[in-house]
Amino acid sequence: MENPNTDVEKMIEELNQYMLPSTLMECFDAWREEAYKQAIRSLPKSSLGWFLDMLNRFRGPEDREESLLDVFDPSMFTVDHPPWQSPPGTVIELPALTSEIAAKADRESEFAEAAREEVREFREHADLSDDEELMQLGAIALAGLGDQKRTFQNREAVIRYLALNASSRMEDLWVSDDSEWLEAPRRRIEFPDMLAWRKEQLLRGYGPPSLREQELICYSEDEIRRFGLDMRSLFLHDRPRHLAICSRCQTRLESWMKQLRDFDKQTLEPTRRPEA
Ligand SMILES: [Zn+2]
Repeated sequence: MENPNTDVEKMIEELNQYMLPSTLMECFDAWREEAYKQAIRSLPKSSLGWFLDMLNRFRGPEDREESLLDVFDPSMFTVDHPPWQSPPGTVIELPALTSEIAAKADRESEFAEAAREEVREFREHADLSDDEELMQLGAIALAGLGDQKRTFQNREAVIRYLALNASSRMEDLWVSDDSEWLEAPRRRIEFPDMLAWRKEQLLRGYGPPSLREQELICYSEDEIRRFGLDMRSLFLHDRPRHLAICSRCQTRLESWMKQLRDFDKQTLEPTRRPEA
């Protein structure tokens, strides 16, 4: 018997492949995800695990990330940024990368001082990797950050780039004062039409298997309630993929689950102990 949790995870992964990007940021994200897949294509899993481990040691125990794509995520610096709301598109403006800002920063500034320390610290972590490995990790960073025109001349250049763009300390600096990021000229990134690309993939049956006609039918009220009470019943349903393509049913399920949560809060909270 297979572990039901694995089934659910597998199903979620499969459902995600049907998602069409609905904002400019999601289009950009879909593109960098594809670029990332290309960048890691020929690398063994063990190398990727080693890279992530090195970067997480550098970032520190409080700021660990789950994947390399999360470490090199430029949307980190885009709170309240218009592309989160803009319709799908193929050109995005994003804040300058931390490494670009550092290259032009006033040497006496707090920013430049922090940047120098981060590069110094990262160099120690990078000592265990040879040039080729660092270049591979550099290529992954470029893909994740959507910075694909750049190349690295030497080991030192890639070390600087990785250190500054993977640094949790520089992120903290941005949280406390983002003026350096706001003042630097923005990056303008053009990329292919990912909405069209995803649609094409779905139609051609690349990736996830194509939908059957009955999978286009909305769930009944009873079914929505059953899913809300136990998500597993969704995955045992004969057409769970409908949820991935129908925002109406997503909204119905969300509002039902919210009602359940509110009900729980009102009736159970005073006696319930938080689970450890
Ligand atoms: Zn529906």
